[in-house]
Amino acid sequence: VVGVLDDCLCDITSIDNFNTYKIFPKIKQLQERDYFRYYKVNLKRPCPFWAEDGHCSIKDCHVEPCPESKIPVGIKAGPSNKYLKVANNTKELQDCEQANKLGAINNTLSNQSKEAFIDWARYDDSQDHFCELDDERSPAAQYVDLLLNPERYTGYKGSSAWRVWNSIYEENCFKPRSVYRPLNPLAPSRGEDDGESFYTWLEGLCLEKRVFYKLISGLHASINLHLCANYLLEETWGKPSWGHNIKEFKRRFDPVETKGEGPRRLKNLYFLYLIELRALSKVAPYFERSIVDLYTGNVEDDADTKSLLLSIFQDTKSFPMHFNEKSMFAGNKKGAKSLKEEFRLHFKNISRIMDCVGCDKCRLWGKLQTQGLGTALKILFSEKEIQKLPENSPSKGFQLTRQEIVALLNAFGRLSTSIRELQNFKVLLQHSRCHCM
Ligand code: FAD
Repeated sequence: VVGVLDDCLCDITSIDNFNTYKIFPKIKQLQERDYFRYYKVNLKRPCPFWAEDGHCSIKDCHVEPCPESKIPVGIKAGPSNKYLKVANNTKELQDCEQANKLGAINNTLSNQSKEAFIDWARYDDSQDHFCELDDERSPAAQYVDLLLNPERYTGYKGSSAWRVWNSIYEENCFKPRSVYRPLNPLAPSRGEDDGESFYTWLEGLCLEKRVFYKLISGLHASINLHLCANYLLEETWGKPSWGHNIKEFKRRFDPVETKGEGPRRLKNLYFLYLIELRALSKVAPYFERSIVDLYTGNVEDDADTKSLLLSIFQDTKSFPMHFNEKSMFAGNKKGAKSLKEEFRLHFKNISRIMDCVGCDKCRLWGKLQTQGLGTALKILFSEKEIQKLPENSPSKGFQLTRQEIVALLNAFGRLSTSIRELQNFKVLLQHSRCHCM
């Protein structure tokens, strides 16, 4: 894919270069830091929409939960201390560990902060979430070491996977049922109209709804690109070998094999990248405040992690061709508000559908990436609150949980890797063409 992206003034080559030289190397390092590698997630929540097919028994779907003993003490201590250096000593940590509720940290905090925490909790439950968050205190929620459970080919496919994707697009992308997505395997009849009516419908949508579809399609493309880049190539004597599968990549993205759909999907991936990039540049002031600490309990490590994160933010701010989210929800106030609400509810529903994914590893990464995108959207629509953040005290108007922060950066890391992998595939395809001649 080359050229300029629709709905924003940005060209693909600029994103490729920016990602390769600036973002990708740093985000990879960031994902290896303790603060970002452990993600707390509940993979046992039942599917709220249909009777599940039962968890798949495919070996590569298995997620290895991380034993509690391996989790850095500061992370285990829970949400109560994630922002405050005040909590950075053992006595307070022990108190926090015993605490099931936010209130239990009262003895280490001023009245003002106590009030703020109550507000934060209220805020967390309030309307502004684009995602349904897992309850981190549920006994079924477990820490997962993301580095030990990489997103890759699992073999999850067929009706269960289609049902999830189909439900996402059909019920949540503002699409009327009469319009079928091109190449949809579940469409009743696939006449000659390969996408024509679909794209007429898409072009007729308002910007916001078109953006919504593109985000989902971009996420879908990213997930499928990862499974092509990290494919189970062979398994000898129980030893798997993982790598790029060019045939699989071409099946999914080649312009001819996909009747032009592949490049469109990849463009949506770039679009999604731009949206998350924009969110990162917007949220920078939140993290630049000294009160925000990426707390794991290891003071030196935490300072390094924070400076790495800030340097990524610096880079995101320097990108010259950002998506302008101000063009969204910009109509009359009432209409814009209800559209934003509709947008938020649709996205929230998608985050719930992730509990219907019948493969634990796919579910893990599906949940993380939707939560990351949901957090990005929350940021983009909280511009005013972020501008008003107080330097040295917790904020009432805008805050992020550790789970959201970890999801945001790891989800962006996945997109950055996808774009990098796309370049690897370009080279591999050139080589394979040379060999064929
Ligand atoms: P699918 O990818 O299942 O797509 C179904 C149909 O949707 C296609 O036929 C096409 O019409 C359309 N479509 C495909 N891509 C796009 C796009 N980008 N935009 C718009 N429409 C599109 N498998 C793994 O091996 N590893 C994983 O980590 C993994 N994670 C997953 C996470 C989730 C949330 C889900 C739902 C599935 C996941 N899968 C994973 C399965 C994987 O995404 C595919 O569903 C599976 O490989 C079967 O692929 P398929 O070619 O049949 O088409």
